[in-house]
Parts: sequence; structure tokens; C-alpha cells
Amino acid sequence: MTSSACEIWGDLSGVRSLFPVLNRTVHKTPLVYLDNAATTPRPQPVIDAVLRYEETFPANVHRGVHTLSGEATDAYENARRRIAAFFGAETLVFTRGATEAINLVANTWASDHLQAGDEILISALEHHANIVPWQMLCERQGCVLRVVDVDDNGELCMQAVEAAMTDRTRLIAITGVSNAIGTLTPINDICAAAKSRGIPSLVDGAQMVPHMPVDVTAIGCDFFVFSGHKMYAPAGIGGLLARTAILEDMSPWQGGGDMIRTVTMERSTWNDVPWKFEAGTPNIGGAIGLGAAVDWLKTLGMEPIATREAALLSDMIGRLQSIDRVHLVGQPSQRAGSVSFVIDGMHPADVGAMLDRHGIAIRAGHHCAQPILERLGYTATIRIAPAFYNTDAEMDVTEQAIRRIIDVFG
Ligand code: PLP
Repeated sequence: MTSSACEIWGDLSGVRSLFPVLNRTVHKTPLVYLDNAATTPRPQPVIDAVLRYEETFPANVHRGVHTLSGEATDAYENARRRIAAFFGAETLVFTRGATEAINLVANTWASDHLQAGDEILISALEHHANIVPWQMLCERQGCVLRVVDVDDNGELCMQAVEAAMTDRTRLIAITGVSNAIGTLTPINDICAAAKSRGIPSLVDGAQMVPHMPVDVTAIGCDFFVFSGHKMYAPAGIGGLLARTAILEDMSPWQGGGDMIRTVTMERSTWNDVPWKFEAGTPNIGGAIGLGAAVDWLKTLGMEPIATREAALLSDMIGRLQSIDRVHLVGQPSQRAGSVSFVIDGMHPADVGAMLDRHGIAIRAGHHCAQPILERLGYTATIRIAPAFYNTDAEMDVTEQAIRRIIDVFG
């Protein structure tokens, strides 16, 4: 364990005791959860906040006149304010997650502003969530999707991004961290370069928010999207962060309750931002849970989390590199969150299933990022995604399990 983790979280047992799921056994073995890039476990403060809503004021927001509805509305809107402040953002629109937030931008701002021949620039690292909505937009509107390639290490170079910008580039939509191979991209520089050319930028922050302090104003992007379940909150909640003025200028997307000001049979008028984009009953408990997750992360501190996770990741990379027949997929100079690898002669899915027999949860497959795996010459990898609460002993158990699997089955 790093000294900073010792100082801040004791021996980690305190922070680990907050995750009920870590008490589980899987196949009669204590669970070692290393699939944090897919979703993070929920700590007790988040579970408690959701339970409190469900048990004491499970009412709808904005519309009710009774006490419970007022309490639900206060908790929901309070969570919005705390989450936006945590990210240094002016306005937060709640969505189901990063995917829905990107689709929201594609179907509103981009639909309104992009024309045939206009270009959207993404990178080869993107999750399908930051590829497919743009492909659909291009199909509808005749825009062109351009892709900045990475180098053979899976690194996204600033020069390549700048070279790919043209006078038809109307949006740059790039991930901050690759979920498949862990590359940390030069997102601040990309957004600054975009801004200097008058090009709006969207950052897919799904894999940034659990691992590092994020200030969207400092990043300088126009849109920032993220998912709650990757930062210790429930699934089905996340958001789009943007300046109020941009959101005010955007058409609504989904129609229904709450997003309207008035409705007649002839026409409707729209609610203010952010509610204009929140049609229907939202995930109220999820939003309250996300607020609790942010409060909890603040008490832990994103800096110590980043330090601890960098140490864990580099330890795991060293261990993997010491095992014969293991090959890392992607060797970016800066990374966060995860490491991907393959083992000669073994299918990643088989390795994943065998690790599960040891109680170790990892991800095997294409990680919803098929293009980057294909770019690096693979169709599937094994991905280990530790988080700050994972112990050195768990790293040991995982290394030994991989060695044993190779010895017995390889
Ligand atoms: N972007 C990245 C980089 C991701 O890792 C993920 C999920 O793995 C997403 C977007 C989509 O997130 P969600 O499924 O929560 O909408």
C-alpha cells in the first residue's frame, strides 16, 4: 500500500468495510473485484441515501404539493447543485448515463448546428457510446465522421489531433480515458486547440470521473458527459455538464412531462434549462445516490484516490509484465483505470471464466470499444480495472491465479 493511502484510509479496512459487496464470496472464495471500469461497487453512504429516499419520501419531483414531494424535489435539486459544483460546472442535466448524454447532444445541438459535409472528429479510442450516435447523425444529416488514429502504443498524440482538424470540423468528441486500454488523452490541450479554432468540444468523461479530480471549466470543453455507476453511484443516472447559455440555445429532445411549460393541442412551450431536457419522471433515487457518491468522494479526496490508483495500476502492470506469455495491449505513457492484456494461446473469455472460479471479477471481451482493439490487432482482451479500495493482497491473489491458469490450462 502507498504511504498516502495508509495515512488517509488507515489500512484500507475502514474504507473497504463501507462496501457490503466486498463481504461476498464467489465460488467459496472471497470476492476480488477488479471490474471497476465496467461499474463500481456501491458504498454504504450511497445505499443509505437511496434507501432513505425510497423509505421516507418516495414521491415524484416538481409536481406535488404535499410534503413528501417537496422533500423529494429538494433532495433531487440539491443533489444536482452538489454534483455540478463537484465538477466545476454551471449546469447539470441528469441523464441515464454517458450514453444518453451523448445521444442528447447528437440529437439536439449537433442536429441543429451541423449540415451535410460538416465533420465530427473523434479518436480511435472511443467507446461505442461516442461513435454510434455520431454515425447515426452522419447518416441522417450527411455529416462526415473523421477519426484521429492512435500510435501503436494506443497513445493519442496532440499533433495527430491538430492535423485532423479541418475547416469543416464542427465538433470534437473525445474520451478523456480509454475504457479498453486505459490511455489518458491530452484532453485539456485538445479542448484548447478546438477552442482556438472556434470548434465546440465534447469530452466523454465516463472513465475520468472515478479516478481524478475533474473541473470541466478548467478542461475548457463545451459538453462533458459521465455515468454515476462508474463513480460509486447507482446505475441509470449520470449527466451532461455544460454552460447554461449553450443548453438554453438547444432544442429539446425527448418530449413529455416536466420538460414543458405549457401544452395545448396545437403546440407546446418548453421549461427552463435543465428541466427542458428531463422528460418524464427522472431517476430520483439515482440522482440522490449520485449526490451522496459525490459527497463521499469529496471526503476521501480525488487526489489521494488518483495517487493510490496510479500505484496500484503500475504494480499490476509490473506483475503482468513478469509473467511469460502475457502481452499488454496498449502501452500508453499516461494511463488511468485499467490495463488490458492477452495470454498466448488462451481466449480472453476462457481466462475470465477461470479467474471467476478464483473469485476474481475482471472483464474479457471487446469492452464496447471494438475499433481500438481492431486497430491494435485484437478482437478481445482481458481487462483488469483496480480501484483505490483494492489491496496489495488482492493484486497478489490475482497474479498467482493468472500464473496458475497458465500453468494448468495454457
Ligand atoms: N464512455 C466510456 C469511456 C465508457 O467506458 C462507457 C461505459 O463503459 C460509456 C461511455 C457508456 O457509459 P454508460 O453505459 O454508463 O452510458
